[in-house]
Amino acid sequence: MYKCFVCRYHEIATKGHNRSMFENKLINNIRTLAEYDGIKDITLQRIRGRIFLRKLKNAEFTETELEQIKDVLSRSFGLESFSPVAECDPEPEKLFAAAVANAKTAIEKRLETASVVRFRTRARRSNKAYPLISQQIEIEMASRLHDIFGDRIKIDLDDPELTIGIEVREQMALIFHETFRGPGGLPVGTNSDVLALLSGGIDSPVACHMTMKRGCHVDFLTFHSFPYTPPESVEKVKRIASKLNRFQRKGRLFVCNISEIQKLIRDNCNPKYRTVLYRRMMMRIATTLCHFHKLHAIVTGESIGQVASQTIINLSVINDVTTMLMIRPLAGMDKLESIDRAMKIGTFELSIEPQPDSCTVFAPPSPAVAAKYQLVEEEEKKIPGMEEALEHAFQTIEKFENL
Ligand code: ATP
Ligand code: MG
Repeated sequence: MYKCFVCRYHEIATKGHNRSMFENKLINNIRTLAEYDGIKDITLQRIRGRIFLRKLKNAEFTETELEQIKDVLSRSFGLESFSPVAECDPEPEKLFAAAVANAKTAIEKRLETASVVRFRTRARRSNKAYPLISQQIEIEMASRLHDIFGDRIKIDLDDPELTIGIEVREQMALIFHETFRGPGGLPVGTNSDVLALLSGGIDSPVACHMTMKRGCHVDFLTFHSFPYTPPESVEKVKRIASKLNRFQRKGRLFVCNISEIQKLIRDNCNPKYRTVLYRRMMMRIATTLCHFHKLHAIVTGESIGQVASQTIINLSVINDVTTMLMIRPLAGMDKLESIDRAMKIGTFELSIEPQPDSCTVFAPPSPAVAAKYQLVEEEEKKIPGMEEALEHAFQTIEKFENL
């Protein structure tokens, strides 16, 4: 049974004088995600480039708590890896007794389904005054385990099923045999806050996740076209936002109805520019929202060439209405790559649920693949009351928190 997790990070360790800001954010984020899952009684301590997570009063974690914490840590951006660890007195006899006991449990478990277990020990010591060097610790472990298990275990330095980790520090030693991958990246909140255009599709949730991974907190904006799209479309986006909020302090979801604007476009403009015109309107509203809430960039799930509205020419015509920084993390990704990521982060299942998107309302059979600036601007001039319609759409935005 374990009382402690040790959490490791990588990219943060390369930060100079900012490093403690990154570490503190990481600690706060882990605590927040844990609290969302009802885990309140933990302490997080930063010691020499590692974070130690324990229960209050140094109590043991139950099996369920161990699983819950693994899940929280696997979503905490900034973490490279983590392990449940046993702590012991570093004095050699005490260390070997504890390490052998820990390894014994792990080996016995594997022997239930295998006849031989391939293993190795990896020792490190930060206390250079320690009487044994790392290699001596590794050899001693092999010899003690061999005495217990004989030829049911085999040393394999290149491809072991089991690696027993030992870290000797000044005041204590750490023993572990399981290392889980963290999500990598940088802690959310170490870079500026941004706004993501979140549809019910597969791509935009992946774009949100990738932006969070680089340290940005994400608020979400979705457009719907009620009564031409059903209320279920928005419910679906809420579920996706909620899934994405598993990775950060909860972001807000802004919900904007653009059906009136779409009707104006339908009734006054050349049908082949509809999608590009819709997207320019979306971008204008997103820009106003960013200014209003001090958000510093707009994120989309656009990928070059994926559909007609995502040719370079159309992307730039859409981009032209804003001076905000646009972030398109999927620009160079294939659909299959983004599907793969969506599956890993758990949004794919939600995204494939069929619901109409507001971009497809009154969609023309053959949209322009290379809209000309001048022509698009001409089309916009034909829209009566465009400014008022935009203002009205902005004023009636609904906000959902705590998703
Ligand atoms: P996705 O799978 O993310 O919907 P897509 O491949 O369907 O992307 P488009 O429908 O052209 O492509 O949308 C491109 C991007 O525009 C989306 O990734 C998203 O960022 C934004 N977007 C599209 N529709 C909406 C919407 N209804 N609300 C908010 N943003 C949207
Ligand atoms: Mg879409």
